[in-house]
Amino acid sequence: MKVELRNLTKIFPSRNKKSSEEVVAVNDFTFTVPDGKLIGLLGPSGCGKSTTLYMISGLQKPTSGQIFFGDDDVTELSPENRGIGLVFQNYALYPHMTVKQNILFPLQNLKGADRMSKEAMIERAYYVASLVQIDELMERKPSELSGGQQQRVAIARALVKMPKVLLLDEPLSNLDARLRLQTREEIRRIQKETGITTIFVTHDQEEAMSISDMIVVMKLGVVQQIGHPQEVYNNPTNLFVAKFLGTPPINVLSGEVRGEKLYISDDAVLDVPGVDDRSVFVGIRPEGFIVDENGALKCELSNIEVMGRDVSIVSKHPASLNPIIRSIINADQSVSGTSTVRYSLKSNKVFLFDTDTEERIYFGDQAKNEEN
Ligand code: ATP
Repeated sequence: MKVELRNLTKIFPSRNKKSSEEVVAVNDFTFTVPDGKLIGLLGPSGCGKSTTLYMISGLQKPTSGQIFFGDDDVTELSPENRGIGLVFQNYALYPHMTVKQNILFPLQNLKGADRMSKEAMIERAYYVASLVQIDELMERKPSELSGGQQQRVAIARALVKMPKVLLLDEPLSNLDARLRLQTREEIRRIQKETGITTIFVTHDQEEAMSISDMIVVMKLGVVQQIGHPQEVYNNPTNLFVAKFLGTPPINVLSGEVRGEKLYISDDAVLDVPGVDDRSVFVGIRPEGFIVDENGALKCELSNIEVMGRDVSIVSKHPASLNPIIRSIINADQSVSGTSTVRYSLKSNKVFLFDTDTEERIYFGDQAKNEEN
């Protein structure tokens, strides 16, 4: 089922009687989620991702704009009539019911033509339980399950009515690191097996990037960029998106363009064809550095951390906006100096940004990518 958001806006009135300042939680969000895809809604706390999800579910009404499921305008429909499955961060299972009863519950409340026979309900409950691999646990109570198992029950309960759209609100944040990894793979597998259009809210960029077909990056209610995770990582539209995606994060330095060359302090570190003379912010991905004894970028070496396959070099530079610069190189490269490290740069891993608007300034071949 295709989900279309048209100019979706949500404004919360001011709670403070003395001030009339309202909160624009979501501002003019237009996007079509293609049928059968998994979309990650991503951004820092307060950026409006949960509000977007609640509007799609029908739990909150938009201030303006419309929501379509396929060709049907569902903007005015109640959550029960939208054909959605919803999974919350805290699972929200009924503690006094067994797993089986929890999963059966939404079916028992079906009305009219949707009503099912007892046998059909049981068959459906076992089908979704096997899909999320909890069919062995049907007689247990939620308190007798691990966090990961409880989350699977919540997903089974959301799937049991065969929803057209599955909505997940931070579904992994109550799980420990290992279980998060495992469960996110599970969600991806279940989504692929069922082919249900799924919208997934998270503040964890790694989580969103690893399982989403497309990510939507939001900031203060406004969509910043939409695209395939790797595309957005490789081609961020502004400094906020560049900083939000990537672990370790992008390094940001002050720079100057003069005569189509990028200067960091007094050193010309890269050719930047097509860019006029100006001040810029320079974003360099950790994998964008090449250790090179003739390299133009000279940094003060602080530490070398070997992490199996890769080596992480921690260094400092007066033009850096962060306390340290972190680069990642292959373990087979070596650093010869003890107090300094010199780098040359990979031009496709270097991004320039306007110092006022923080919007991207494209150079050389990058301009072509932007048009794509
Ligand atoms: P988090 O990751 O912390 O859940 P979020 O990105 O999901 O954040 P929302 O919960 O959508 O953000 O909130 C967006 C903005 O709307 C925030 O500034 C929040 O304070 C505000 N907001 C959310 N719900 C309400 C409400 N019921 N009344 C007033 N303001 C609200």
